[in-house]
Amino acid sequence: MTKLYAIYGAAGCGRSLMPVARQQLVREENASEIVFIDDSLTEINLINGHRAMNYQVFLNESAPEKYVQIAIANSYIREKIAKRLEMDGIRLWSISADNIICMDGIEIAEGAALSPFVSITSNVKIGKCFHANLYSYVEHDCVIGDFVTFAPSVKCNGNIHIEDHAYIGTGAVIKQGTPDKPLVIGKGAIVGMGAVVTKSVPPGVTVVGNPARILEKK
Ligand code: UDP
Repeated sequence: MTKLYAIYGAAGCGRSLMPVARQQLVREENASEIVFIDDSLTEINLINGHRAMNYQVFLNESAPEKYVQIAIANSYIREKIAKRLEMDGIRLWSISADNIICMDGIEIAEGAALSPFVSITSNVKIGKCFHANLYSYVEHDCVIGDFVTFAPSVKCNGNIHIEDHAYIGTGAVIKQGTPDKPLVIGKGAIVGMGAVVTKSVPPGVTVVGNPARILEKK
């Protein structure tokens, strides 16, 4: 019996990360199967050439070890599923594309998904289940929490701290901080697409525009 690998989520995020997952196994010379898990499925289907099943069916698959990449953009769902996997003794699986760049002194916790053309420069610390979509970068000395999500082309410059569950929209640019005063994106904050963030963002708010300002709830 060989190990079984899965991409959890067969919507946009999951179907875009499956090829990244295949690259990961090819690099490791690992011939194991990768399946999709999606709870909307009532029976085993084939999606883009991979078997696809709901979580209950996945649990019943016999394999000595199971590894799962949670490929769902909503970070709160990623956290909920990560807890369930932990209870069921299933490991979080980190995947990265062949052409990413990772420099020195990088610490990334389990469950990360690094899409094609992602760059992470030196001395960066990243928490659980980080998603960095196409062409995003993380510059030196950043500290990123758990379940943080970068849409494509996020420009995260040096000395920025991003707290748990923050979501950074496509093409956002975040100004660099300094070692003694990092720019902080607070817990659960949302940075709108194309925003130019020039100062710290409080927890839980949404910022948009250039320079980015808090979007007041109506
Ligand atoms: N999903 C699931 N179990 C859950 C929550 C979500 O299988 O507990 C699946 C859901 O059926 C959907 C995908 O995860 O297919 C989430 O897709 P969404 O439309 O949110 O977009 P994406 O995260 O791919 O951008």
